[in-house]
Amino acid sequence: MPTRESPSQYATETHLIHGEFHSTSWDYTDHIVPPIGASTAYRLRSADRGAEGFGAFANPEFNRQQRAPIYIYDRLDEPTRGMLEQALARAEGSETAIAFTTGMAAISAALGVLVKNGDRIVAHRTIYGCTWSLLSNWMPRFGVETRFLDILNFDALEASLDDPRVMVVLFETPTNPTLELIDIAKVRAAVDRANAKRTKGRRIFIVVDNTFATPWSQRPLSLGADVVCHSLTKNIGGFGTDMGGVVCGPRLLEQDLLLYRKDFGAPLAPRSAWPTLVYGLPTLAVRSRQQIASAMAVAQMLEKHPAVERVFYPGLESHPQHAIAKVQMRDPHGEFSPGILVFFVVKGEPAEAKERGRLIMNYLATNALAVTLAVSLGQVRTLVEHPASMTHAVIPVEAQRDAGIEPGGIRLSMGVEATADILRDLETALAIVAG
Ligand SMILES: *Cc1c(COP(=O)(O)O)cnc(C)c1O
Repeated sequence: MPTRESPSQYATETHLIHGEFHSTSWDYTDHIVPPIGASTAYRLRSADRGAEGFGAFANPEFNRQQRAPIYIYDRLDEPTRGMLEQALARAEGSETAIAFTTGMAAISAALGVLVKNGDRIVAHRTIYGCTWSLLSNWMPRFGVETRFLDILNFDALEASLDDPRVMVVLFETPTNPTLELIDIAKVRAAVDRANAKRTKGRRIFIVVDNTFATPWSQRPLSLGADVVCHSLTKNIGGFGTDMGGVVCGPRLLEQDLLLYRKDFGAPLAPRSAWPTLVYGLPTLAVRSRQQIASAMAVAQMLEKHPAVERVFYPGLESHPQHAIAKVQMRDPHGEFSPGILVFFVVKGEPAEAKERGRLIMNYLATNALAVTLAVSLGQVRTLVEHPASMTHAVIPVEAQRDAGIEPGGIRLSMGVEATADILRDLETALAIVAG
């Protein structure tokens, strides 16, 4: 019987549906669809079995991918979540995967096990708002400061790593919302140079938030990252019904991640793990292919549109880092897979562009079936948002550009509706501001 360690003859699509040949997490034989675990505590059969279970939990000697865990209590380990974790580890190509209640819980845990009082984090200046807030408002209370810099400036990155207190380099690629890309191999080279001067215990870890690309379009561990975080709430979950998060990484972090999750307490609920295991992952490949085809068609339409100033999509040759996209953003078959998000800027002076963005949102919200005005991303529905008049509306329009907010910038997350319908809804909305 093939195991995780032996190469599989089956494609990723197939494994996303079926998982492993045999799951150590749940010993069921006749279900096709895995059951939802619904037991907070587990019968232990004997005191000795209880002792064995506590001894095996978060024990580096115990490989939970190969041996059936002795379940004790949901917050420690649980079968439905365990099956999802095995499937996610395979998808990312990681030795372990530990699932949390939300993407933010996963990011907090990844950082929580890697840094301690006095350490420093280097983060890309453009980062998910709540990650920024975690780094700026909460981590300093525990004595961990973050230096935000433009990681695309590799000289600045290298210089920042001379600080012996730096333990983590954290970034997203593509970034939100402008879809900038960071060359993971270059960051790896810079970190390797810094690590060569350090002792083993003070090695810097590269943590990548891979939420935008999903493992379908990009596997950062194969490009040089050490740890990958995801919000499962987005395209891995895929249907917008449940929140979740995961940390994928080396086995050497598994013990601490499990202990951290046990004590800080944010394990993914089995009821939320189940839809991702049964609906999200099995459809990731077909959804992504359709979403990416629509993203490409929409990006090409927008690039030619007279009301549009600029389009940012890693699949377009005009994208400033198209060459990096071609290397990094590949599906498991090696096909170019530039993602499901498109960012574009409508024409006009700042105040005018912001007003046009607002009008387009209002038009789509009331008239479009194929495009929905909402935050979040990675659903079967195409979602649109305009940061300047929505999430960042409090920043005065004159100051928005300096704050990295394009007044006319609109972000689209492609769904799986008919591409022609998405195109028509967007073209009709753009027509109202074109004249
Ligand atoms: C949504 C998101 C998160 C946070 O995930 P939650 O599940 O909402 O906690 C983190 N990073 C990125 C890039 C996201 O899009």
